Amino acid sequence: MADTATSDPSTFAGRAAQLRARIDAACRRVGRDPAGVALLPVSKTFGVPAIREAVAAGYRRFGENKAQEIRDKYEPLADSGVQWVMIGHLQTNKAKDVARLAHEVQSLDRLELAQALDRRLQQEGRAIDVLVQVKTSTEPSKYGLAPEALEPLLREVARMDTLRVRGLMTLAINSPSPQAVRACFRSLRQLRDRVRELGIAGVSLDRLSMGMSGDFECAVEEGSTEVRIGTALFGARQYGDAYYWPEGPAQKA
Ligand SMILES: *Cc1c(COP(=O)(O)O)cnc(C)c1O
Repeated sequence: MADTATSDPSTFAGRAAQLRARIDAACRRVGRDPAGVALLPVSKTFGVPAIREAVAAGYRRFGENKAQEIRDKYEPLADSGVQWVMIGHLQTNKAKDVARLAHEVQSLDRLELAQALDRRLQQEGRAIDVLVQVKTSTEPSKYGLAPEALEPLLREVARMDTLRVRGLMTLAINSPSPQAVRACFRSLRQLRDRVRELGIAGVSLDRLSMGMSGDFECAVEEGSTEVRIGTALFGARQYGDAYYWPEGPAQKA
C-alpha cells in the first residue's frame, strides 16, 4: 500500500501508486493476483522530462501510438534503457522505423503489416513480441482485426520467426454504458480462450492488453494483464483523440 509521501498526486510516482492501488483493488474484487496485471504508461504527446520522471519512478516500458514520436524520443532517451511499445495504428510504410526502434508492437491488425514488419526485422536481425489488436466494439471505424480473421492471421504470423505473438489487445467502445464497455473486454477474453484451444504452435495468448484511464478497473475485472494508461498518469493531452484516431468516432463529436 502506498504511503502518503509516495501517493502525492503532483508527482508521477504518486499518481502511479494511486493507480496501482486501484488496479490491485480491482484484482481483489474478482480474486485475481495483482502481480498478474502490469501498468503500461502511455507517454504520447509528453516530452522527455515527463518520461524521465517516470523512469525515475521505476518504469521502463512506454506506450506510444505514432512511429514518428518513437523516432523523436528514441535518441534523447537512449541512455535511460526505455523500451518503446507501439500501441497505435501503424501504416505499412512506417514499419521500418518500428522494426528498428520499438521493443514491442501491440497494434498488429493485418497480414500486410505483419509481412512488412517481418521483412524489416529480418534486415535488422531482430525479433519482437507482438499482440494482435482485435476490434471488439461495433463502432464503425475503430482499428483492429475482425474477430473471425484472428485464427487465419495467427496461422500466418506463427510462421514468421521475427514476430512472437504473445496475446491480444483491444480498445473498448467509447460509451457511457458500463455494460457496453465490459462486453468488449469480455469478448476479447472469450475470443482468446477459444483461439488458445486451437494450440497454434509458436503462438502464446497469455497477455490481454486492455483498459485505459477511463475503463481500466472494468478491464482488470474481465481479465486484463496490462492496462495502458496515459491521462491518469501524465495528465491531459493537448491534442484530442481525433489526432490519434483520425477516422474514429472522436472526430465526429
Ligand atoms: C492514448 C491511448 C491509451 C491511453 O489513453 P488514456 O485514456 O489517456 O489513458 C491507451 N491505448 C491506446 C491505443 C491509446 O492510443
